[in-house]
Amino acid sequence: MNNTYNPYDNVLKVVSEAANILGYTDSDIEALKYPERELKVAIPVRMDDGSTKVFEGYRIQHSTSRGPAKGGIRFHPDVNLDEVKALAAWMTFKCAVVNIPYGGGKGGVVCDPNKLSEDEIRAITRRFTAAIAPLIGPEQDIPAPDVGTNAAVMGWMMDTYSMLKGHCVHGVVTGKPIELGGALGRSEATGRGVMFTTKNVLKKLGIDPENTTVAIQGMGNVGSITAKLLHREGMKVVAVSDVSGGIYKESGLNIPEILDYLSQNRKNLLSGYEEDGMTRISNAELLELDVKVLIPAALENQINAANAERIRADIIVEAANGPTASEADDILAGKGVLVVPDILANAGGVVVSYFEWVQNIQSVSWTEETVNEKLKNIMDPAFEAVWDISRKNNGTLRTGAYLIAVKRVVEAKKARAIWP
Ligand code: NAD
Repeated sequence: MNNTYNPYDNVLKVVSEAANILGYTDSDIEALKYPERELKVAIPVRMDDGSTKVFEGYRIQHSTSRGPAKGGIRFHPDVNLDEVKALAAWMTFKCAVVNIPYGGGKGGVVCDPNKLSEDEIRAITRRFTAAIAPLIGPEQDIPAPDVGTNAAVMGWMMDTYSMLKGHCVHGVVTGKPIELGGALGRSEATGRGVMFTTKNVLKKLGIDPENTTVAIQGMGNVGSITAKLLHREGMKVVAVSDVSGGIYKESGLNIPEILDYLSQNRKNLLSGYEEDGMTRISNAELLELDVKVLIPAALENQINAANAERIRADIIVEAANGPTASEADDILAGKGVLVVPDILANAGGVVVSYFEWVQNIQSVSWTEETVNEKLKNIMDPAFEAVWDISRKNNGTLRTGAYLIAVKRVVEAKKARAIWP
């Protein structure tokens, strides 16, 4: 990441643009510029070698105007306050664009899970959960997995919170193991939503999935499920990458084999994978491949002023949050690259998190089929609405998504009025 990049500025810029088009005054959107709560915590942990190390963590609630704060927990060495603020704000607008009754929040711990043992990750999780416990809860703020965290981490968060409360609280986090009230379909939900979105955009443009080449940056939860489902839909996934670098094969990679290899060990990276006919490429090279669809599914600011001119994909589907910096947006629009924005494209995860929370609160469980069907019934109309409003405004899909989202958040704020 470059030093001047501040993802929170990106959010403010696109929100202001949408508010201007909607005719809102500065007063109407002033409060949206400030996260409602920012908590920074110190997390002392006894490491496996007997030493004590202190990690820093955050939980930020950007908005609770439309409902409890909702958003993931990231464990990554680059976690910082501005990043968590931006991620929390994106959650506010993501929940609004798909119209689920949540605000936005996000959390993170500065650590590298690839260099920690399971015991150390669990210790960080428990102490972090205890530190943010005053802010979270099923009616206040509901965390979920993000980069570097998974269902196991959510299980430990749920257990820690329940121990502190003295009773079982299923609804405090989503993305939990199924045994603890996790929703069937949640682990695949973000990738499934990306698949629905990709199919929707191809259909609008009259492109046959069978003739579609795809490159995916990031092979974690979101990237790997996206690869699996797009491959299953007949698309040709020619390149994938992770933090260790990428691989490319013009005739299409063997996605089931890659997923099998990665799933055998939590720490397996693509650098250890081999397949006939593949070549190794860097993450930077992957982003600049001549493919129909590019899917960034790793971190923010991957497509920026430095490389936007060299992007050759026709369509970018943002599976990651904030992968395109705002100056790159203008360059891409000028080149005619269609960008499907993160707050729409990757909303499948929070939609099924919402389903999980609804099931927890009602003590019921839905089948995976029901979950997937309900997900499609939210993602497809949300895509149509964003597509239509963008065409009416002659603007980008990102602006269209924010026109819908900002309006919903501002109108909720207005209806509640300023307290007291
Ligand atoms: P993950 O931790 O499961 O996977 C992250 C992937 O990115 C890994 O393959 C990792 O090796 C790779 N990566 C890390 N640093 C990298 C770097 N510097 N360059 C290239 N690759 C790198 O995380 P995830 O849950 O799949 O999240 C990926 C993105 O999707 C994030 O932007 C996240 O905020 C977003 N997202 C996740 C969810 C969800 O449900 N998990 C929902 C919506 C959006």
